[in-house]
Amino acid sequence: MINLSSIDISKKNLVIRVDMNVPIRDGNVQDSTRIRSCIPTIEYALTNNARILLISHLGRPTEEKFEEKFSLKPVADYLSKIINKPCKLIGHLESEEIFDGKTDIQLLENIRFFKGEKENCQDLGKKLAGLGDIYVFDAFGTAHREQASTHSAIKSATKACAGLLLERETEFLSKALNNYDHPYIAVIGGAKISTKLELIKHINSVADQIIVGGGIANTFLKASGLKIGKSLVEDSMLDIAKDLLVQGKIVLPNVIITSKTFEGEGIRETSVKDVKDDEMILDLHLSDEILTSLNQAKTILWNGPMGVFENKLFSKGTKDLSIAIANSSAFSIAGGGETLSAINKYIKSDDVSYCSTGGGAFLEFMEGKNLSSIDVLNSKEIGS
Ligand code: AMP
Repeated sequence: MINLSSIDISKKNLVIRVDMNVPIRDGNVQDSTRIRSCIPTIEYALTNNARILLISHLGRPTEEKFEEKFSLKPVADYLSKIINKPCKLIGHLESEEIFDGKTDIQLLENIRFFKGEKENCQDLGKKLAGLGDIYVFDAFGTAHREQASTHSAIKSATKACAGLLLERETEFLSKALNNYDHPYIAVIGGAKISTKLELIKHINSVADQIIVGGGIANTFLKASGLKIGKSLVEDSMLDIAKDLLVQGKIVLPNVIITSKTFEGEGIRETSVKDVKDDEMILDLHLSDEILTSLNQAKTILWNGPMGVFENKLFSKGTKDLSIAIANSSAFSIAGGGETLSAINKYIKSDDVSYCSTGGGAFLEFMEGKNLSSIDVLNSKEIGS
């Protein structure tokens, strides 16, 4: 993969595909993590006298239909503040007006407003790549999607390279994928097994233990013959869960937090063998054995909360896990939106060796799959 630092970008016009798909409420950015993760590439480009046009998507608007709630205006305003430079929002693709030599940094309006983005339209990809001299792909979060501004634009660019974020993501995630040390402990939580089945299967072949939590643990508990009341469960996954249990790497909780409602009615801490019909398992207690495993691990991979941590009543498992990972000297990797928000809530992102900005892309990468935009970037040659 060609990296930004290996090419001369001075006085060049860079079109940079970033992932600034951030939550916005009342015209204000609610969580700036994704914007901040793009800053190293932006600052590197500006310091090296390049001019920039940023491209990002935001939410899921209907193509060719402008809706203010999907506009990137709040992102352009936020960016202007943190880089201390005006960032102009551009609503069209007229190349001679975009890089007019007057503005250092511009942001194209939500690429999903433009016809052809979703269908990976080659003409749109070519148009985007043709706006500048070099197409820089830095949107790891969208690297698994074949869309015009990812796959087609890279493919048709005369020169394309990876930005600094993409370089870091692939470097750290590759280490956890291919170059890990044992003991390797994976912690997989969140709502459903079905969305993480491929990850669990892959990790089952490399990790020493898989600690499960959240709704995922409920399905494994039911598969092991225990009663789980009215907890979130995926009955269609029970046979697969049974097969995985037989292979012996899945670590189930022993003590859990149950409640009759999500508001905490009848909340209690109890054994997994004692869940009543009208109760839901909404959190878990990390056993001493699990804490010891995390402490002795050399590699830790974490995706998904241990319980309904958005409610403080059910946050203990996720909080204790965050602290255990922060205290461990293991090489640790975390990814996924809920996982990062837990990290930001209970510890610092620096307490983890690497926090990936990807959700679906993180899962696919860690499943060992090839991501199509990275593949096409890998096929580019220097100078071509
Ligand atoms: P995911 O996106 O699959 O990582 O799932 C994250 C969501 O799973 C969070 O919003 C949690 O509230 C939810 N979750 C975690 N544990 C449970 C549980 N025991 N029951 C229901 N939902 C859960």
